[in-house]
Amino acid sequence: MTFSWTPHRFSGGALALDVANSVILRFDPARSIDRFADPGNLAAFPDAATRLCAEDRDGPLKAVPADRADGLIRLREAIDRHFRAEAGGTPSSLLLADLLDQIAQALRVAEAGDLDFETALSALRLISPSRAGALKICPNCEWLFLDRSKNKSRAWCDMAVCGNRVKARLHYQRKKQGKDAS
Ligand SMILES: [Zn+2]
Repeated sequence: MTFSWTPHRFSGGALALDVANSVILRFDPARSIDRFADPGNLAAFPDAATRLCAEDRDGPLKAVPADRADGLIRLREAIDRHFRAEAGGTPSSLLLADLLDQIAQALRVAEAGDLDFETALSALRLISPSRAGALKICPNCEWLFLDRSKNKSRAWCDMAVCGNRVKARLHYQRKKQGKDAS
């Protein structure tokens, strides 16, 4: 099956988190997939993000030139490390410093509208303490997401995908144990 950037892949609620979530099953080396490792996927991401990313922005996103792809990946990894540590309750000033370095680097070399530039600005906005408690890790797929609901009650990156997968798994387990009446 050919890969495509479906709405589910923009469950992060912020561009910086959607970029971080371009790595599938990050902590499962046997099954982990970096969607940006395929140049075609990376090139198609800005158009899809322009349509599907939940974060408001002016104008379409532009692809990064090949010589800045490594910088985008460094920025992505710094975003994931910092916000994952923070969402997990173990924030680190060193990870924040590394993220700020990568943000500064992207802002130096890129221009407004470029994917790396806008990802850096998105990460900068996420550092704001005003959204404390809204940054979460999906318990099914471990993607990062920004809970934009009023009462901060969102449990999954995407209820239709991860929420249902967990429900189906629990249902199957109950059935196997013979405890399922329905
Ligand atoms: Zn998920």
